[in-house]
Amino acid sequence: MAAKYVYFFGNGDADGDESMRAELGGKGANLAQMAKAPLSLPVPPGFTITTDVCQEFYKLNRNYPEGLSAQVDEYLAKLEAAMGKKLGDENDPLLVSVRSGAAISMPGMMDTILNLGLNDKAVVGLAKKTNNERFAWDAYRRFIQMYGDVAMGVDHDKFEAIIDEVKAKAGVKEDTELTTENLKEIVEKYKAMYKAEKGEDFPQDAKKQMWGAIGAVFGSWMNPRAIKYRKLNNIKEGALKGTAVSVMAMVFGNKGETSGTGVCFSRDPSTGENVFMGEYLMNAQGEDVVAGIRTPQKLSQLEQTNKAIYDQLCEIRDRLEKHYHDMQDMEFTVEEGKLFMLQCRNGKRTGAAAVKMAVDMVAEGLITKEQALLRVEPEQLNQLLLPQLDKDAVKKAIEIASGLNASPGAGCGQIVFTADEAEAWAKDGKKVLLVRKETSPDDIAGMAVAQGILTSTGGRTSHAAVVARGMGTPCVCGCADVAFKDENTIVVKGKEYKKGDFLTIDGATGRVFEGQVAVKPAAISGDLETFLGWADEVRNASVRTTASGKTVKGFNVLANGDTPQNAKDAFRFGAMGIGLCRTEHMFFDEPKLTAFQKMIVSDTTEQRKENLAKILPYQQKDFYEIIKTMEGRPVTIRLLDPPLNEFIQAESDGAAAALATKLGMDKAALVAKVAALDEHNPMLGHRGCRLAITYPEIYEMQVEAIARATAQLDKEGVKHDVRIMIPNVVTYKEVEQIRAQAEAVIAAVNKDCGTSLAFQIGSMVEFPRTALSADKVASVADFFSFGSNDLTQTTFGFSRDDYGKFINSYLDQRVLEDDPFATLDADGPGALMEIAEAKGRGVKADLHLGICGEHGGDPASIALCYKIGLNYVSCSPFRVPLARLAGAQAVIKASK
Ligand code: PEP
Ligand code: MG
Repeated sequence: MAAKYVYFFGNGDADGDESMRAELGGKGANLAQMAKAPLSLPVPPGFTITTDVCQEFYKLNRNYPEGLSAQVDEYLAKLEAAMGKKLGDENDPLLVSVRSGAAISMPGMMDTILNLGLNDKAVVGLAKKTNNERFAWDAYRRFIQMYGDVAMGVDHDKFEAIIDEVKAKAGVKEDTELTTENLKEIVEKYKAMYKAEKGEDFPQDAKKQMWGAIGAVFGSWMNPRAIKYRKLNNIKEGALKGTAVSVMAMVFGNKGETSGTGVCFSRDPSTGENVFMGEYLMNAQGEDVVAGIRTPQKLSQLEQTNKAIYDQLCEIRDRLEKHYHDMQDMEFTVEEGKLFMLQCRNGKRTGAAAVKMAVDMVAEGLITKEQALLRVEPEQLNQLLLPQLDKDAVKKAIEIASGLNASPGAGCGQIVFTADEAEAWAKDGKKVLLVRKETSPDDIAGMAVAQGILTSTGGRTSHAAVVARGMGTPCVCGCADVAFKDENTIVVKGKEYKKGDFLTIDGATGRVFEGQVAVKPAAISGDLETFLGWADEVRNASVRTTASGKTVKGFNVLANGDTPQNAKDAFRFGAMGIGLCRTEHMFFDEPKLTAFQKMIVSDTTEQRKENLAKILPYQQKDFYEIIKTMEGRPVTIRLLDPPLNEFIQAESDGAAAALATKLGMDKAALVAKVAALDEHNPMLGHRGCRLAITYPEIYEMQVEAIARATAQLDKEGVKHDVRIMIPNVVTYKEVEQIRAQAEAVIAAVNKDCGTSLAFQIGSMVEFPRTALSADKVASVADFFSFGSNDLTQTTFGFSRDDYGKFINSYLDQRVLEDDPFATLDADGPGALMEIAEAKGRGVKADLHLGICGEHGGDPASIALCYKIGLNYVSCSPFRVPLARLAGAQAVIKASK
């Protein structure tokens, strides 16, 4: 026997229900559920062809599986019996709509055809039967247009041109003003145009029409719009079986002034407020509401004009919310005073609305806290924290290019091409957008005052991206279409933009727009803290067993922060500490930058020590403030890890001269220094703890600054929990040696200050060798922090700074499913982390493990970190709320 491919709904009954969402699609499953008890809502009868058929359709090269045709016949007969009408009947035709619907709603992405079943004869029958000739001809012209466009690929504009022509001739503006005669003329012209385009008559056989529409809907599963939507929403190809097709008896909202159609939401989808809202149009079909041809009326108006229907809708709203325990987006039609429900689904909502609804629904007893936590997409929280582009403004804006969405938020300003210009212009009160090929530490002051940052090269972990995220500044990087013509001009796809012109970027999507697109400021809802408090409870209470058999309790969220301001942001957003303080980032601004540069260009150890002594007080002050801000929460300070050449750059002769003057040295000597520091591959060069193996005095100064800052706080009675972290470790011997030097310095400070401070000293795990020898490293380290940026770089062999050139080809061709620098790869770095967990905890059972690469702020990566058994994730301050939620979701999902 063939599989069951078709399910019935309507007339108070259905042979499917909401548990069959995967097979019936969201729309089909909800129609079935609404039709049957206990909801028993007025749903026009129909049947749904399952998503299995869609899957087969593509497997069979766009053919249907055996047995489908007979089942459709059987269910069509059932539908005809329910309606007391027959499809294609010349006197009283049954008309149907043919609708798409996948298990995950993809609003507007796939096709729908209405008024199907009309032909030259049936339209006359319909006119007689309904005693409404205008209605019948309007339905027929709508059907020819929709079917011709959607199922047969006739250009929509060709139909519109005909309507416009007839309207102009008749001297009317609105479709509703067209007379029956006008509509008849349109039908004739449509059919003639159709024949000219397709070389055959418009199909008159209603069954043939139905199969054409079913094929079109299944075909629309793979239209470019739907594919793009799935990509944007991270729905993997193959995760869904496809779309279902629902064939439903038509009810008509365009049968005169007692008919109408509308869309409503059980709560406000943009604010989350518990108010019933929506829009409707009398004497119209659904497409009129959506297409914006006529301006719909507010649902509240219906209460005045048709209280009975409004009350019935209110009652349905309550019943559906109680049933689905979620905000519903509903479509309805009123046919000659009788209400029908055509669709309901969980409504899309903004981040602010999602949080408010989740919190309200817990208070109302509709859902549990755990359900509430699963209701909000972690990424949606960003919307609550950063300025956003105004949606309506974006629709009208001119998009000129796109790059990597490196740091979310909207940034709009006058373009400038150097950090100095950014600073100078900002001082004059201008809003600037900093456009650079790439950024360097020298640019930091300019970056800090910019509304946004746009770079033509660099990936998500490039300097610009990391710093921008840390500062909460919107950033689009790796935007290859931006070319620098001269110091006053960039060229984007052939069009020139001068310094001072306005551009707008959307860091959440990577899109770049011409001119000023309106930006909306951030608004933090009071419910957010309640909501995130629940997330913290869930993570704190979590217990799991790792693959290596160790029990791990709790899952914490820390922040990456390099400045006292970062620490304040981190604290404000609820971070339980600082998981990574990149000390090299503390030298971005003056006078620290000059002191640091002088240290780098030192010729002798003595000179270097002299310059280091000048830096020490700056470091001590910054450490003091960060540690103080975090009020006893862990602060993990990483010893220096810069590619030194990043700090000493002399791109031109003029720049070399300026830098030499600033550092009080001879230009030729500086140029020689720059050449000496130059590396073919700085990312794999003289950086991290390799610097301390060559120049131990650098880390010794830093440890002294840390110890002195802590001693000062200790004496002031301020709580502190400071941890020292060594970067770029490849062998336990580096840790052993640096640790011994650090402990000697700490002992000296203790003696000097009369304190008895002790610090945990841990190792970063950023290279395969470190992970593979984690047992040895653990024997000399107090904790591990996975530097997943470098671990990804070295596991994949993809340069962090250059992969932007090819990653999109990999993603477009699905050679890789995800950008590995954005989402931690389970087979590569993830597998190495598992090895490190097992080996490390094999030596020290309670070894503390965390992650501080950019992945610490990515929901899918956070879930993998939880599974591996990390104690915490650390991410940029602005992603802390997201990580608090994503961590809780990982806990809840793992327990299911
Ligand atoms: C890392 O490599 O993941 C890391 C945190 O260090 P950085 O990004 O500073 O190299
Ligand atoms: Mg690193």
